[in-house]
Amino acid sequence: MSTDQDGTLFMVAAPSGAGKSTLVNALLEREPSIALSISHTTRPPRTGEEYGRHYYFVERAEFEREVAGGIFFEHAQVHGNFYGTSRKTVQDLLRQGRDVLLEIDWQGVAQIRKAKPDCVSVFILPPSRAELERRLRRRGSDSVEVIERRLHNSRGEIAHAHEFDYIIVNDRFEDALDGLQAIVRAVRQRSGLQCLRHEALIRELLA
Ligand code: 5GP
Repeated sequence: MSTDQDGTLFMVAAPSGAGKSTLVNALLEREPSIALSISHTTRPPRTGEEYGRHYYFVERAEFEREVAGGIFFEHAQVHGNFYGTSRKTVQDLLRQGRDVLLEIDWQGVAQIRKAKPDCVSVFILPPSRAELERRLRRRGSDSVEVIERRLHNSRGEIAHAHEFDYIIVNDRFEDALDGLQAIVRAVRQRSGLQCLRHEALIRELLA
């Protein structure tokens, strides 16, 4: 598909355990035209994670070669591992008119916001610290050390929530999902986009 208009770049960030991936996956079921960007990471796969579906799992040396080669739109170190978003994949999709969603941390969001100010950023908050901790422990796929590290780092992530365009509290899942979908739908109706999309209609109505 090719259109005259670029798609919108959405970014969703959250502390580990806020339920971000579950929310994003449910959003993609409701809005299947959104393309999810698959990141590169040096983190080892969790049980059940697949190369190319959850992440492109790479060795540290390969990741460094990719950084040097300028392939990343943004990249950052998070919880001791490296993560990066492929520039070409995202830009190709946007140019085809597809909306693209990145699940990345606040550092990546800050880099992309500078390069592409028309992006849309959403921060997901857990309803309480106790609930964040409960959700992180319930996941069961991370070691105690990894969980403790992520809990500790959550404060650093949450301290950046105010920099985002939207904040959603993920207390009742369905409410949070409705909120996320409402953001996507509202962004798609912004007048700048609509004026381009409906140029012919507006011309006809003005004639
Ligand atoms: P996890 O290891 O739990 O999959 O992800 C850990 C953190 O890294 C999450 O906050 C996730 O959003 C973030 N992350 C995943 N991919 C990327 C990426 O490509 N860039 C950046 N900056 N962060 C990422």
